[in-house]
Amino acid sequence: MKIERVDLIQLHMPIKQSYETSYGIIEHAEPLILKFYTEDFTVFTECSAGSVRGFSYETMGTALEVLRQNIIPAVMGREISDPLEFHQLCKGFRGHPMAKASVENAFWIYKALEKKQSLAELLGNQKDRLIAGAGIGIQSTPEALVKLVDQYLEEGYTKIKVKIKPGQDLKYVAAVRKSHPQIALMVDANNAYSLDDIDTMKALDEFDLLMIEQPLAYDDIYYHAKLQSQLKTPIGLDESINGPYFAQLAIELKACGCINIKQCRVAGLARAREIHDICADAGIGVWCGGMLETGIGRAILLALSGLPNFTYPMDIGASDKYFFQDIVEPEFKLNSDGTLSVPKAPGLGVEVNEEVLDRYTVAREVIRFRHK
Ligand code: MG
Repeated sequence: MKIERVDLIQLHMPIKQSYETSYGIIEHAEPLILKFYTEDFTVFTECSAGSVRGFSYETMGTALEVLRQNIIPAVMGREISDPLEFHQLCKGFRGHPMAKASVENAFWIYKALEKKQSLAELLGNQKDRLIAGAGIGIQSTPEALVKLVDQYLEEGYTKIKVKIKPGQDLKYVAAVRKSHPQIALMVDANNAYSLDDIDTMKALDEFDLLMIEQPLAYDDIYYHAKLQSQLKTPIGLDESINGPYFAQLAIELKACGCINIKQCRVAGLARAREIHDICADAGIGVWCGGMLETGIGRAILLALSGLPNFTYPMDIGASDKYFFQDIVEPEFKLNSDGTLSVPKAPGLGVEVNEEVLDRYTVAREVIRFRHK
């Protein structure tokens, strides 16, 4: 694959419902779409750094800067035949995994197109459907939360993830459990607690949760190990797992019972697959988390999340859970069994609807290869 031109397309997309987490409120999505032009194919990818502000240090601004200054110049105009070469070329630039993933993903999609395979097939995902999840932000009252849980269950979702923070935790989870004793339920604290909150954490054991996601600091593994040793409920690590090394460390220290794989948090699909394999060898299940992706990012997540050790249901919902209109065709619709279908067409597996893309575009920058 030889990139001749890249368009950096900034979108502003309204979302159906604002989403409150322990670190802030998300009012709209700000995805950055990348369109790669090569001699034979056009490939779309996505960077979600701008959509989930506060999740990490990356923002739309940092992603644009690093893409312009470092990542795109490193790959532009070069013949790159394997996605792993991308990681070699970017070895000199530390950090910025979401910016890196948005370019790394293009090499995988291109390779799939070249082989006339779907991305899922190329990655080794043999599944047709994956259990979807409905994530719910922090609500003003336990009653409001239960009402939303009812709504998503009625729509057909079978797994519910509830965001919590100190003061808006036990009563909320208790209310949901009381209304729905059997559903697959988990909580995500997004780093809002410390070891001083051990009593609250232990009280969560009562609710038969799939897991407690990232209760302690975003960069911590050691204290999670201390906490896990006192809990029955598995801890699921998200923010702290920045790459294969951290997965290995968390497993060795017994800091968690499962790991969230967000391919963008670990610089792309190659490292995501590495973490998947490390966890599989250790008997630790993984699940797929999201970053308010459009259909482009969603297709990439679904392609990855059918690998055998994704033993927990995804956090990923249908397009219409988040957006009034998605930028891909077909949009992702919830099947009657609470699943989403894995795209099976060659490459990304879905088409980008450029008319809708244009409608949400607020800025577009064209970067061309300078022939000597
Ligand atoms: Mg999380």
